[in-house]
Amino acid sequence: MAKKFIICIDLGGTNLKVALLDLNYKIKDREILSTRSFMEKDDLIQGIVHSVNRFIKYNALSKAQILGVGLGLPGPIDAKRGIVHFFPNIPGWKEVALRDILRKKLSLAVYLDNDAKLMTLAEHKLGAAKGYRNVLCMTLGTGIGGGIIINNKLYRGFNNAAGEIGHLPINEKGAPCNCGALGCLEAYVGNQRIIKEARKTFKRSITLEELSWLAIKRNRLAIAVWRKTGGHLGFALAGVVNLLNLDAIVIGGGVAGAGNVLFESIKQALKDQAMSVQAGHVKIFKAKLGNEAGLIGAAIMVKEGL
Ligand SMILES: [Zn+2]
Repeated sequence: MAKKFIICIDLGGTNLKVALLDLNYKIKDREILSTRSFMEKDDLIQGIVHSVNRFIKYNALSKAQILGVGLGLPGPIDAKRGIVHFFPNIPGWKEVALRDILRKKLSLAVYLDNDAKLMTLAEHKLGAAKGYRNVLCMTLGTGIGGGIIINNKLYRGFNNAAGEIGHLPINEKGAPCNCGALGCLEAYVGNQRIIKEARKTFKRSITLEELSWLAIKRNRLAIAVWRKTGGHLGFALAGVVNLLNLDAIVIGGGVAGAGNVLFESIKQALKDQAMSVQAGHVKIFKAKLGNEAGLIGAAIMVKEGL
């Protein structure tokens, strides 16, 4: 029987998304579960197994029609051996051979990788960076994830750990970062840091959504917070652009919703800081595929056997 479908899973700290995609990366069916309803590691694995089997059953498919299962996961992954090193925001996972566990339980081919790398695959193949050869994708959130495409291929590095743009140092005497180092980009532009900055500016508590909304309404204080954030991002990206002479940078994640104010200040800081040849060439785009990038990237991984 012809292989016609791929089942993809996007695991986040809050949601577990499961979707059925065809080989053109169109989503045919999906469900969203709460990650927190699975207290233990084994519950979560069992939840994934149930969900995959349910999808096959409800869509009247047979396993012979499924090319494979692809998982995007929020942490460092050994993609070659199919091992989860750990999840920074989901306790109880340490050196778990998830690929082999799922293969055995599902009798299907299983692939896994870090979610930011899958977003990068998706934005490069079908999204904002389509047609560009050398690309950095980054996703802004509580943590900052990233992935690098060199000569149209995902660059993994020896341990599949390349692309950690959030842990690019921008200040050697800077603020402490969750990774244990000092002055990483994430310590300046992670969600928590932006909220802290906004609280100081507004002298009250404020959400990122409100901060974005106020900036779009041209609120002076909100614009100032986003300009500062964009300045840090542009400064860091200048180093990346100087080093790699990229064609495009794609920025996604909730914070990218702040829109033009953020993107204009990123571009300005990059132009001020980077060397002119590299700065003059690189294009900066907002991510195009939104919340679906992880699922689509997982499907690309399975289809192309990456
Ligand atoms: Zn760090």
